[in-house]
Amino acid sequence: MANRRDFLKLSALTASLFTFNKSKAAEVLSDSGKKTIKPIVISTWRFGIEANAEAWKTLSTNGRALDAVEAGVKIPEGDPKERSVGLGGRPDRDGRVTLDACIMDEFSNIGSVACLEHIVHPISVARAVMEKTPHVMLVGDGALQFALSQGFKKENLLTAESEAEWKEWLKKSEYKPKVNIENHDTIGMVALDMNGNLSGACTTSGMAFKMHGRVGDSPIIGAGLYVDNEVGAATATGHGEEVIRMAGCHTVVELMRQGLSPEEACKKATERIIASAKRRNKPLDEIQIGFIAINKKGEHGAYCLQKGFNYAVYSPEINNKLIDAKSLL
Ligand code: ASP
Repeated sequence: MANRRDFLKLSALTASLFTFNKSKAAEVLSDSGKKTIKPIVISTWRFGIEANAEAWKTLSTNGRALDAVEAGVKIPEGDPKERSVGLGGRPDRDGRVTLDACIMDEFSNIGSVACLEHIVHPISVARAVMEKTPHVMLVGDGALQFALSQGFKKENLLTAESEAEWKEWLKKSEYKPKVNIENHDTIGMVALDMNGNLSGACTTSGMAFKMHGRVGDSPIIGAGLYVDNEVGAATATGHGEEVIRMAGCHTVVELMRQGLSPEEACKKATERIIASAKRRNKPLDEIQIGFIAINKKGEHGAYCLQKGFNYAVYSPEINNKLIDAKSLL
C-alpha cells in the first residue's frame, strides 16, 4: 500500500501531466452530436493510478493505445512491492512464480502467454507472440524459450517477502483465496487513443498458491480481456475460473454492442456470474469479480460482485482518479 508521501508525490506528478495534456493534447470531439472523450485510459485497482500515468504519456502525445497499455501495465509488473503481478508476485503452491498476460489491439491482433516463469514483463512477451509468431498463445516452457530467443532476460521473480509468505502458507497448505484480500489482483487496462482506436492489456501472477500449471482468465482473450474496435473494450479481475466460465469480457463488449453503457454492460455480466454460481451452489461470498469497460465514445464504467473493487480513470475530464465500482452484493 502506498504511503501518504508516495500518494502526494504521485498526485503532484499526475496533476502536472494532466494540466499539460489538457491544454496540448487531449480533446473532447463532437461525433454525430455525441461527445467523444479521448484519449482515455482505465485500469483495475489502486496500482492503476501509476500505470495510467505511464500510459498517459503515450496517449497524450498522440501515441497508439497499444503502446500505452503495454507501457502502463509494465509499471506494476516491474514493481517488486506489487505482490500479485510480475516481479514479486506470489508463487504457486510449489513456490514457483508463474505469470499470465495478454494483449489485444484495434485490428484484433492478439498475443498471450500463460504459466510463464522468470520473465519480469510477460505483457511484452505476449506482444512479441502477437507480432512475431504465427500463433496467438504460448505457455510454460515454450513461452519461456520463445522469450529468451527474443532477448528477454531470465530472472528470479520470487522475492524474499513472497517466499516467506509461501512458506507460512505451506504450514496449512489450504487453498482458500480470500475476497478482496490481496492474494491475487490483476492489472487490466483498456485505452482509447486520439485516433479513436482501442487496445487492452491484462497481466497477473494469478491466484496465490494455485496448483502448478493453473491458468486463470487473464491471458484468455474473451475472458480476462476483449477489444472490438467498433464497439469498446473490457477487462476483468477476480476469480478467473468464474470469468472464463462465461467468457466475461467478450460478454461485456457484446452487451455494449447491443447498446448498453459500459457500466450497464459490466453490471449485466456480473449478474451472469451470480446466476452461474447459483446453478452450481457456489457460495457467492467466496467469489469476487470486477469488470471495467470503455466504449468508442470514451465513456467508462465498471461493476463488481462484492464491495471493495476500484479502478483508475484518466481522461481529459478525470485527472487520474480512483473510483469505487458499484457492487451487486
Ligand atoms: N483474475 C486473476 C486470476 O484468476 C486474479 C485476479 O485478478 O484477482 O488469475
